[in-house]
Amino acid sequence: MQQEAILVAGPSDASGLILGQREVPDAGPGQVQVKVAAIGVNFIETYQRSGVYKVDYPFTPGSEFSGVVTQVGDGVQNYKVGDRIATASGANGYAQYAVVEADAIAKVPDAVDLNVAAALPLQGMTAHYLVHNSYMVHKGDVILTYAGAGGVGLLLTQLLKLKGATVITTASTQEKKDLAKAAGADYVVDYDQVAATVAEVTEGAGVHAVYDGIGKDTFDGSLAALRRRGTLVLFGGASGQVPPFDLQRLNAGGSLSVTRPKLGDFIATPDELHWRFGDIMGWTAAGQLDVRIGATYPLAQAAAAHTALESRSTTGKVLLVP
Ligand code: NDP
Repeated sequence: MQQEAILVAGPSDASGLILGQREVPDAGPGQVQVKVAAIGVNFIETYQRSGVYKVDYPFTPGSEFSGVVTQVGDGVQNYKVGDRIATASGANGYAQYAVVEADAIAKVPDAVDLNVAAALPLQGMTAHYLVHNSYMVHKGDVILTYAGAGGVGLLLTQLLKLKGATVITTASTQEKKDLAKAAGADYVVDYDQVAATVAEVTEGAGVHAVYDGIGKDTFDGSLAALRRRGTLVLFGGASGQVPPFDLQRLNAGGSLSVTRPKLGDFIATPDELHWRFGDIMGWTAAGQLDVRIGATYPLAQAAAAHTALESRSTTGKVLLVP
């Protein structure tokens, strides 16, 4: 059976995301086949599409999606046809049907609809590991982050506030600033106001940790914002990747730490995946976590979705619907 799917022929800009036909894949051992309900759009797919991250072409992107199980492969115990599931480590999700490892999915609670379930896993579990594991946030910490109205940014701010931190963040427009503020950020400023704001809020000491998903443009300022023994968590490069740098700067800055994590290493076992997934879905179902879907595009307009994300015109989550 044929289906509609996005195909990328080789490294390209967003115009390389072309709707085409491909065979509906069958579930192999340990896998399930899913009729995709909604697809979360993420920066990782722009890195794969453009060649920053290596993939085999022709390539169908798609790491995050929700849907209903339509086929169960040999050896799969915990899922059956008809289950509502979501994943943040699926493959080839920009399609009507996808096949994914059963160990990489989780059931969506009845109280959470499938659009929200596609919007939450990747950015939600990222925010979860950032505040629990990359740097363990404590009540009273002062934390700097950026893009407070972005997909990760809105969720990260809410989790930081649940942990009792003071949050300084940035946004580039008034609409984005209002959204970041509504998510609970204490200080929402322009990028060129970061150093002055950190100095004022921390009385010159610097912040306990910086969560930096912007990368190239913010890295130096992030290091400079840290207090003695502070931690820089570099989790992305929305503005470009950080070039190699001299480790001696960590010594001179006050015994600083830098880590460069990725989600896959924090949901590598089913136990860890289900812990994080259960927390974020549970908080959402209980109304403790607000998930903003900023834009929804038909699958055929995947190129427009990538263009919007890369040109920083989006807020919250961007979804595709097949
Ligand atoms: P966002 O929704 O946050 O979009 C990116 C935002 O970054 C923009 O809206 C913009 O906000 C800001 N920005 C600043 N400079 C630039 C620039 N030059 N180009 C584009 N955007 C810029 O995206 P996501 O929430 O999906 O992802 C945020 C970051 O988190 C990305 O770097 C992504 O790779 C990373 N990530 C990392 C993961 C990990 O495990 N390591 C997992 C998930 C995401 P403004 O206009 O307000 O400045």
